[in-house]
Amino acid sequence: MKYNIKSIDDLSIEEVKHKRALIRVDFNVPIQNGKVINDLRIRSSISTINKLLELETKIILISHLGRPKGKRNPEFSLKPVYEELKKLLPKTNIYFIETIEELKNKSNQIQPKEIILFENIRFYEGEEKNDLEFAKQLAECGDFYVNDAFGSAHRAHASTEGVARFLKPAVAGYLIKKEIDYLSKAISNPEHPYIAIIGGAKISGKIDVIENLLKITDKLLIGGAMMFTFYRAMGYSTGKSLVEEDKIELAKHLLEKGKNKIILPVDCVVSNEFDPKIMKHGALKEVSFDSIPEDGIGLDIGSKTIEKFKQELQNAKLVVWNGPMGVFEIPETAKGTIEIAKYLAEITKKGCITIIGGGDSASAIEQAGLQNSVSHVSTGGGASLEFLEGKELPGIVILDKK
Ligand code: ADP
Ligand code: MG
Repeated sequence: MKYNIKSIDDLSIEEVKHKRALIRVDFNVPIQNGKVINDLRIRSSISTINKLLELETKIILISHLGRPKGKRNPEFSLKPVYEELKKLLPKTNIYFIETIEELKNKSNQIQPKEIILFENIRFYEGEEKNDLEFAKQLAECGDFYVNDAFGSAHRAHASTEGVARFLKPAVAGYLIKKEIDYLSKAISNPEHPYIAIIGGAKISGKIDVIENLLKITDKLLIGGAMMFTFYRAMGYSTGKSLVEEDKIELAKHLLEKGKNKIILPVDCVVSNEFDPKIMKHGALKEVSFDSIPEDGIGLDIGSKTIEKFKQELQNAKLVVWNGPMGVFEIPETAKGTIEIAKYLAEITKKGCITIIGGGDSASAIEQAGLQNSVSHVSTGGGASLEFLEGKELPGIVILDKK
């Protein structure tokens, strides 16, 4: 797969000046008591918005928030995002528009360098259905289309895919451009040594990623709960650790395929108690992978494994990481994840390209305060996974080619 798509930098001044830019952004931010509690996703699109403001365009922003399932529901209103956006762009006139009819009118009335934020696009059933009539109506509200919502690019919805069939030029914003630039390094003509680190809770969601990365990486380091399914595939007992019984055969097959590539932890941190609902554990101890006690629940990689993984990583030129090494939400079992994150920051300084994908992995890197010390932290959870699986993302392939 090779993306060679146009971005806003490839548009001529005639194509943008005083024209209406319909921009799909990802403002799907966490909201509590009517307030945005983390504005990272809003800030991530500001460079695209600012660039188009500079070029004197009229801006129409489209986003979803949560899963209102095609119905108007105040709980999922983008109003709190509107308040936040006004704070981020205090000198700009910003209007909040709630219906598609109003949007058609208002988009013809606003002045260059003004912005409309449209209400949650998923209040309309046509969005997730990718209804082409609905997509056409959206297309009427702009003179060109910009997709900057990487987190939604793996979904063929009206505002991420359908609209781009009718509205041209259709190009990428800076956020999507950066995502493609980095994530492409991980799947086409990657630099070597190329090491992947895969962890997280379940093998089941990561099978396609593992299969695809086995083809192109030199080593694949496994951590997280999925290590236990691999141990079981090798015939070891794993106590009460999280195991996907129905994936043991598959794990065998992956071990066979990745014979000299897959590297499993040599030790792990176990507890005799763990309640995932309230994230509470009992006494912790480190044990070797072949002597997990019967009542042991594996919650993190052990210190010998951390050292081993560092050794494997020390000469890497490219590292892709998806999935935490342990239950990083609790400080006592976050060590494996944090230590690997710190080491990635170190090798990044030496010139290694380090790419982090996956929603929880991104949170873990932020928790460690290292998001600016690695090469790239993807903003798209599911989208970055599908990209690493080698799949084509519908919201990206529909954009204009260079
Ligand atoms: P990502 O969102 O980065 O793709 P995943 O969703 O696959 O990552 O996995 C993240 C989850 O895996 C975290 O909630 C973490 O607590 C959990 N996890 C990691 N190791 C273990 C383990 N040993 N036992 C149970 N859960 C684990
Ligand atoms: Mg996750």
